[in-house]
Amino acid sequence: MDTRAGIVVTGTEVLTGRVPDRNGPWLAEQLRQLGVDVGHIVLVGDRPEDMRGALAFLAGTGVALVITSGGLGPTADDLTAEVVGGFQGRPSALDPALEQRIAVIVERLMARRGWQADPDATAAGVRKQAQVPQGATVLEPIGTAPGLVVPPAEGRDGPTVVVLPGPPAELQGIWPAAVAAEPVQRAIAGRTELRQETVRLWGTLEVQLAVVLRDHVAELSGLEVTTCMRDGELEIVSRYAPGAQAAYDRLLAVLVGTFDRTLFSTGPTLDEIVATGFADRGLTVATAESCTGGLLAARLTERPGSSAWVLGGVTAYANSAKEQLLGVPADVLAEHGAVSAEVAVALAEGARSRFGADVGVGVTGVAGPGGGTAEKPVGTVHLCVAGPDGRELRALRLPGSRAAVRDRSVTMAMHLLRVLLVGGPPA
Ligand code: ATP
Ligand code: MG
Repeated sequence: MDTRAGIVVTGTEVLTGRVPDRNGPWLAEQLRQLGVDVGHIVLVGDRPEDMRGALAFLAGTGVALVITSGGLGPTADDLTAEVVGGFQGRPSALDPALEQRIAVIVERLMARRGWQADPDATAAGVRKQAQVPQGATVLEPIGTAPGLVVPPAEGRDGPTVVVLPGPPAELQGIWPAAVAAEPVQRAIAGRTELRQETVRLWGTLEVQLAVVLRDHVAELSGLEVTTCMRDGELEIVSRYAPGAQAAYDRLLAVLVGTFDRTLFSTGPTLDEIVATGFADRGLTVATAESCTGGLLAARLTERPGSSAWVLGGVTAYANSAKEQLLGVPADVLAEHGAVSAEVAVALAEGARSRFGADVGVGVTGVAGPGGGTAEKPVGTVHLCVAGPDGRELRALRLPGSRAAVRDRSVTMAMHLLRVLLVGGPPA
């Protein structure tokens, strides 16, 4: 695939990490779906010279298209349109018709929110947002800021630059119009479809995969394979042009044949598999969580429509809560301790019966950093999933921080649910 693009994300708030970047990855995925490969996402603060530097760098990589995000507002630190115009050799000028349209939008917005502002300052802000580089295409605003498509000036080489507002909803709303704009279509005319497939393994290490890939490297040409180990799951993403479909089919056959004990998905995420499992089997679930403090319930309810299978959950941190809210017997707590297989089972069964659910999940453990003992060190976690066909139990010793122990416990509970609902490799 030869059509490439670069992305410039601007904003001091993003550079400093106060606001996590949602635009760069989103744009990269949209471009990939169009068959345009992204080599760089450059993050810069609100400084014109840094913005120019980023544009020059990306232009130097030979990309056909650059997308910028942010810096289109009415305030003095919003400089993107002017900088891009200058970079492309297209000085900006006021577009009076656009100024009118933005003024109407701003007036309506202020009236709706009941805002008062100095009319002169408002007009100055609107006038600034209506500055358009000569010959640029205006993309109608979703918020108040219009987007722009700015090709290089006549007779110049270089990428076409698409200028989009920073707020993610505005950027995403304007995106279809940006793609449809004639100069963008011209810039990406040489693109080819780029397919992307994901295989997921649970319990295989990257080194084990590397050995297998190395043994088959000759058969896999035309594939760009990247692997990512995250939260115990090894994600293998392959990207390829349609001509390399046979190579991908070969890779998939090798992976399925080699990793039959750990390969749990050739596409959907763990959460999608669990959600589909509940929906297809018409089963309901309830949770009883101690050390994960409700994280499992939050994860199960993340998806729209989860009310069809999630009945509820209890965060039972204290022993008294375990006894009173979930019916965990006091003598089981006394005999085995709160962090034990017996209590995990009692929590799962308690959630199941108190909520009247088909499936109950119990989680109890020592998340740390304190509270560990020789017998039950930090990272000891007991999980139980109890369903109509029996129970799945796990005793874990998880490494890492408090957050890591809690996250991994939730992921393990999701895998136990997967096994109970659809089978496949063991959790
Ligand atoms: P505005 O008119 O709101 O100033 P703008 O186009 O100038 O629009 P920015 O000033 O760069 O955009 O950003 C406005 C807000 O949008 C930021 O404070 C931030 O909350 C959000 N935002 C901007 N860029 C990003 C990003 N890359 N990822 C997530 N949120 C962002
Ligand atoms: Mg701004």
